[in-house]
Amino acid sequence: MHDCTGGGCFLPWMTRHPHPASLTNGREQRTMFRLGKGKGRMHKFVIRGARGSMPACGRDFQRYGGNTTCFSLETDEGFILFDMGTGVVSADAELQQRETLPPIAILFTHFHLDHLIGLPRFGPLYNPNARLTFMGDPNRPDQWRRNLSTFVSSPYWPADLGTSVSAKIFEDLPDTVSPYDICGAKISWCPVFHPQSCLAYKIQGPESTIVIATDHEHRDSRLSERFLEFSRDVDVLIYDAMYLPEEYNLRKGWGHGNWQQGVQLAMESGVGELILTHHDIHRTDNQLDEILECAREFFPSTRMAMENMVLST
Ligand SMILES: [Zn+2]
Ligand SMILES: [Zn+2]
Repeated sequence: MHDCTGGGCFLPWMTRHPHPASLTNGREQRTMFRLGKGKGRMHKFVIRGARGSMPACGRDFQRYGGNTTCFSLETDEGFILFDMGTGVVSADAELQQRETLPPIAILFTHFHLDHLIGLPRFGPLYNPNARLTFMGDPNRPDQWRRNLSTFVSSPYWPADLGTSVSAKIFEDLPDTVSPYDICGAKISWCPVFHPQSCLAYKIQGPESTIVIATDHEHRDSRLSERFLEFSRDVDVLIYDAMYLPEEYNLRKGWGHGNWQQGVQLAMESGVGELILTHHDIHRTDNQLDEILECAREFFPSTRMAMENMVLST
């Protein structure tokens, strides 16, 4: 059992929440909030991959899943993917079942391999009827385009992104703090602390808001202050908890967080629900259960990200 009450984990700022945990974890679990109605309604937000750095496989990783970061959001107007880790495979399989492909927008947090490795095998790239819009950091317009075209080309992959038959647009994210309409969803972004930079995203529905922060080390910095405000009062915060607190002490500056930082942030920014993600490749299902138990002692509305977890209306 992981000791969350003493030893290296306990921080003085933490106080136990007076109420018992009321949420349960599990596949197909639905969250309590609604994503909105009417035009631009967001039908379904799915966590496709919750693992960080590398995929994991084996019997100890089956419940939370071993695929790396990818989220999907389907709206009346299209299909949005956040990152292209190996988790995108299940989204690809779903899209293949459809007679008509929706417009697909692909937004990247950054270009480390665990967020990119699913792209070369993504079926719609090679479908002449697919319409894909790639979006990246406006502060690195040449770099993110070059990253994509380099990765999906020789010698890393036999096909070439530029000559694949789908219709593709490469577009910088708007350089504004205001939400931007993508496939009917209102989306904004914020830079966070991570090597080679990384973006967090906020999805704002008419009735609820989700922030995705897959790779983020919350430090005493201007970026962290900005992220705190970015997350203020959101309904759901999906947060990087790759390390245990004792591991984090040895890896400061590596750009990842831990569950205690997630809990602290959730409390300070007043979020409704915290979902911990970017699980370390060696973290077994049982260990993730133990981390969840620890986090819920301080912030009951915590869940662990799990493959195929659905947040929907
Ligand atoms: Zn990552
Ligand atoms: Zn990264």
